Amino acid sequence: MRIGILALQGAFIEHQQMLEELRVTQFLIRNLEDFLQPMDGIILPGGESTAMLKMLYDLEIFEPLKSRILSGFPVFGTCAGLILLAKNVSNDSRRGFQTMDITIKRNAYGRQLSSFKTIGNFESIGHVPMTFIRAPLVESNQVDVQVLAQVDGGIVAVRQGNQLGTTFHPELDDDLRIHQYFLEIVSNYINK
Ligand code: GLN
Repeated sequence: MRIGILALQGAFIEHQQMLEELRVTQFLIRNLEDFLQPMDGIILPGGESTAMLKMLYDLEIFEPLKSRILSGFPVFGTCAGLILLAKNVSNDSRRGFQTMDITIKRNAYGRQLSSFKTIGNFESIGHVPMTFIRAPLVESNQVDVQVLAQVDGGIVAVRQGNQLGTTFHPELDDDLRIHQYFLEIVSNYINK
C-alpha cells in the first residue's frame, strides 16, 4: 500500500508522521510528477482551502485528481481538505472537487472558538480526541453520506463511498485510529 499526501500547503508533515507510525509507505505530492506516481489513496491535509485550490489548478493536478476521486479512488480530507471535497460551500463562492454530497461552512465556529479540543464519539471507533482549528462545519448531507461523528449536534466526520472527511485534525493528536480507518478503506479498495 502506498499513500500520497498532498503537500502544497498546510499540515501535511503531521499526516506523514502518522503514516510513518503506522508503518505505511507514503510520499509527499508537491507537483504533477509526484501525483502521477503509483498510489492507492491520497490525503488532503488541513490548511487554507483557497490557497490549496489555486495551487491544484496551477499545477494541473485538479482535473486528474477529481476524475480519480469520482471513479472511487480513496481520499481522506481533513479540515480544509474536506472543504475541497464538498459539493457546496455555504459561505464561499469558490468550489473544490465537489465530489462529496455535503454542504459545508468555512470557519464555522467564529473567532472566539476558532481553536478548541474535545473528545467525541467516532462511529465504529469510539471516543477520539478532536482538535479544531478555524474549522468548517458540515451543515447538511445527502443520504449517500454517512455521518461518522457529531459534536454538539454538528457534523464533524463523514464518509461517502471511499471518501472520508473530518472537520477536525486527527493528525494533530496521537490517536492513530482514524488514519487506520482510512487505511482499511484503502485495503478494501485494493483488494476489490
Ligand atoms: N479555515 C480554513 C479554510 O477555510 C480551514 C482550516 C484548517 O484546515 N485548519 O480553508
